[in-house]
Amino acid sequence: MTRTGIFGGSFNPVHFGHVRLAQALVERKWVDEVWLMVSPQNPLKAQADLADEHVRLELARLAVADVSGVGASDFEFQLPRPSYTWRTLERLEEAFPDRSFTLIMGADNWRIFPQWRRSEDILFRYSIIVYPRGGSAVDELALPPNVRLFHAPLFPWSSTVIRSRIRQGESISGMVPPAVAKAIAQKRLYGYCRKEV
Ligand code: ATP
Repeated sequence: MTRTGIFGGSFNPVHFGHVRLAQALVERKWVDEVWLMVSPQNPLKAQADLADEHVRLELARLAVADVSGVGASDFEFQLPRPSYTWRTLERLEEAFPDRSFTLIMGADNWRIFPQWRRSEDILFRYSIIVYPRGGSAVDELALPPNVRLFHAPLFPWSSTVIRSRIRQGESISGMVPPAVAKAIAQKRLYGYCRKEV
């Protein structure tokens, strides 16, 4: 079985926080592969400022093109919306019987995990990797047995910060992979108004 980590998110846009974390999980052999699962519609997030899903997928693919063991998936695009993770995991198991799936999430998402649809079923059937995010502490000793804390280096930015910087004409260099910054500029995404990123 190929141990496949599912790292779901809006990736609006993808940034180094996402990429470095996925890379570290593969390098440290917590999983064999990580798939950035681009969510067309997150049931718990507002839709304003959300770039087209195909554009977000394209950026995610650019971001991980050179990262071994990490890919970006459009698997949720063909599923009913909004995208509920339990359904994604169920369908993934059907589609890829030679893989075992582990859910990857930041501590911010772990905190609100009980609000996720069928969170108890997810917890019962899958292992979960949680990692620290600024502002969301995780009590490692209180985690259920199939939930493990991955001590990843903190990358302090979020997609929200990056969108805001783009809108204000500020540089996002060093926050997203260069190919992503270039595509954002070329496509004039997120209110882009600068000549150079
Ligand atoms: P937004 O600011 O638009 O809410 P985000 O930056 O939090 O977006 P998402 O696409 O919602 O990004 O994130 C997908 C996953 O990536 C989530 O599990 C989230 O916890 C995680 N994540 C977001 N930012 C970082 C970061 N800087 N470092 C590590 N993980 C991150």
